[in-house]
Amino acid sequence: MRAMQFISTGEPLHLTEVPTPTAAEDQLLLTVEACAVCRTDLHLMDGEVEIKDPPRTLGHQIVGIDERGDRFGVPWLGWTCGTCSFCVAGKENLCPNAKFTGCDIDGGFADEAVVDRRYAFPLPKDQPAEQLAPLLCAGLIGFRCLSFTGEATNLGIYGFGAAAHVITQVAVHQQRSVFAFTRPKDTEAQAKASELGATWAGDSEQQPPEPLDAAIIFAPVGELVPKALAATKPGGTVVCGGIHMSDIPSFPYELLWHERTIKSVANLTRTDGEEFLPLAAEIPIRTEVTTYPLEQTNQALDDLRHGRFTGSAVIVL
Ligand SMILES: [Zn+2]
Ligand SMILES: [Zn+2]
Repeated sequence: MRAMQFISTGEPLHLTEVPTPTAAEDQLLLTVEACAVCRTDLHLMDGEVEIKDPPRTLGHQIVGIDERGDRFGVPWLGWTCGTCSFCVAGKENLCPNAKFTGCDIDGGFADEAVVDRRYAFPLPKDQPAEQLAPLLCAGLIGFRCLSFTGEATNLGIYGFGAAAHVITQVAVHQQRSVFAFTRPKDTEAQAKASELGATWAGDSEQQPPEPLDAAIIFAPVGELVPKALAATKPGGTVVCGGIHMSDIPSFPYELLWHERTIKSVANLTRTDGEEFLPLAAEIPIRTEVTTYPLEQTNQALDDLRHGRFTGSAVIVL
């Protein structure tokens, strides 16, 4: 089968012919239908998130069909030990022994993938696979971020990419007001935010027209943390949703004072998937996707890096 493999930092992925893997009893062999591209894939290729044992097939938002004809979705968290103190306490997202799809385990930029049954979520078959794929990371991690904003009515979202597209729809469905912050002058993303129901859309240099109850930062830009704190009410939370972020510059204590909180979100739990995926189907969430064949995976990654599309890039097999 074909696979797009990471060999070393700073190089494009290599299209390689590899043996079709076989599934153990606790695994599923999926014929991949689609796999969405994520900013984490760029962090992996750039060495900001380490791949310990290359070569490795990337791709961690997999939609595929098993040998019985059922459809499953596979996220970033691909395996946990089940016995450490974090796993036992229901915090499997923090398991120190965890293995991640498309990082420690071969992922979905390939014709087939072997996955842990515990981390394969059932998906409906009545929607196109490429529409579902972005829900598995952008959607799930975004949903986990949203859950940490509590009852926030005025919700700020910084960085209007794939996760923001999905989470704006969830927040609007929950009757929250979304204030969308994009890169300066990105009027296309601002228009998209308004179209998805955002109350206000502007750039990250601006102050929102009303103070925020909470903010989520999806952009990997540390400078946004003090900006978001400055826009957030006393007692509010700023949630950082990325796996990697540039350094947060120093800022006056006054911005944090009055019980504001900064929180990072790491990975996901199966409970997040069990809550979010049925909700996404019920709303229903619409994802905007740009599709690429497997052999153009590097083009998709490059287009993501340079912000050449809105929504998500998805590799379709
Ligand atoms: Zn991801
Ligand atoms: Zn564990």
